[in-house]
Amino acid sequence: MNNKNILISGAGIAGTALAFWLKRYGFHPTIIEIAPKLREGGYAIDFMGAGYDVAVKMGIVDELKKVDINFSKVALVDKNDREQGSINYQKIKKFMNGRAMTLLRSDLAKTIYTALDKDIEIIFDNTIEKIEQNDKEVRVSFKQGSSRSFDLVIGADGLHSMVRKLIFGDESKFEKYLGYYTSSYTIKNFSTGNSEFAMYNFPCRQVAVYSNKNNATTTFFIFSFPEKLTYAHHDTEKQKQILREQFTGGGWKCTPLLNALDNTADFYFDSVSQIKMDRWYNGRIALVGDAGYCPSLLSGKGSTLAMVGAYILAGELKEANGDYQQAFVQYEKLFKPFMEKKQQSAQSFAKSFVPKSYFGIGLRNFVFKLMSVSVFSKLFIAQFRDKGLQLKNY
Ligand SMILES: Cc1cc2nc3c(=O)[nH]c(=O)nc-3n(C[C@H](O)[C@H](O)[C@H](O)COP(=O)(O)OP(=O)(O)OC[C@H]3O[C@@H](n4cnc5c(N)ncnc54)[C@H](O)[C@@H]3O)c2cc1C
Repeated sequence: MNNKNILISGAGIAGTALAFWLKRYGFHPTIIEIAPKLREGGYAIDFMGAGYDVAVKMGIVDELKKVDINFSKVALVDKNDREQGSINYQKIKKFMNGRAMTLLRSDLAKTIYTALDKDIEIIFDNTIEKIEQNDKEVRVSFKQGSSRSFDLVIGADGLHSMVRKLIFGDESKFEKYLGYYTSSYTIKNFSTGNSEFAMYNFPCRQVAVYSNKNNATTTFFIFSFPEKLTYAHHDTEKQKQILREQFTGGGWKCTPLLNALDNTADFYFDSVSQIKMDRWYNGRIALVGDAGYCPSLLSGKGSTLAMVGAYILAGELKEANGDYQQAFVQYEKLFKPFMEKKQQSAQSFAKSFVPKSYFGIGLRNFVFKLMSVSVFSKLFIAQFRDKGLQLKNY
């Protein structure tokens, strides 16, 4: 095997999944993560389709089942908490032949991380600052001072990837803003008293909550905004202020949810954006997950497709005996057309994701009621099956 020493930037879902497979195939992955420890937080993600298949291959499904949120239903409610329509989540599971879960992003990340071989070097609290490559190696300088050489570097460092910036250029060249901002955080000692995922809308805004068995509630906010807002990525106070401005006076549970903002440990706020690139690699450097092809939360697939990309990239490196030029070409050939379709359907969905008027909300509720009828639910759920993507056995 050639090019065995591989640096992965980012210990998120793509980075840890990639390290898992590379190690299994005889490579020596090293992970560098900017956060001081494994990151927590994020809301619930649907976990089915090709990502589920990768989890089966990794042997982590039993562990994931232990943290399956297992909603009773997804319910639309009005400002008085009266149900306006619902979909039985167990029915969705049945249509997917049981191969479906709802997981907290942090539970998925932690499960993959725990499954990693203990030999893998993981450097926390550090980041790449400079990358220079030639035909023999990649020389990487870290923020904490030192520099090291690797055979390959993979950017798995999310939507705001540093590797992408250093190698391919500024984020603005690749970002497609889909017209929304989203936020999520956990509130401890607060429960809605049931096990449903409840969603409430008022024009241009949606807020959803669900409570888990540990008397904690996870929130999910999304609001439409015509253009990108200006704030620093790490300025959480400013981000909380924006969220308050958007949802104060919104009714339903908005007041208690916003009141808890100052006591959360896992506040997340970001634009709903995609990353669209002509090429996912340059020389000895490639991108995986949100760094290269973020489909956005509107696809409902960011995390699972991060795992799928990692599986294919590692597998192709194995098949090519570490010949990165061959492997990167194959990785793109097998996965990029599929990802582009997923991004396209998320863009179409963006137009109607959060209704902009009370009429639109009424219409959406009507469609939602239709979806609770079997034949329509089957049609809706079919899109999560990831037809058109065949996972090779490497
Ligand atoms: C804390 C957090 C919360 C999230 N919550 C939501 C959510 O609520 N809703 C939603 O739609 N999506 C959320 N996401 C994004 C979503 O989880 C991703 O679409 C999905 O996980 C894709 O996986 P990924 O591994 O490509 O990227 P991510 O899961 O984003 O992982 C990227 C990793 O790279 C690390 N990293 C970033 N920059 C650097 C750097 N310069 N050097 C080294 N490491 C770096 C990050 O800390 C992170 O661990 C969240 C991401 C994070 C990190």
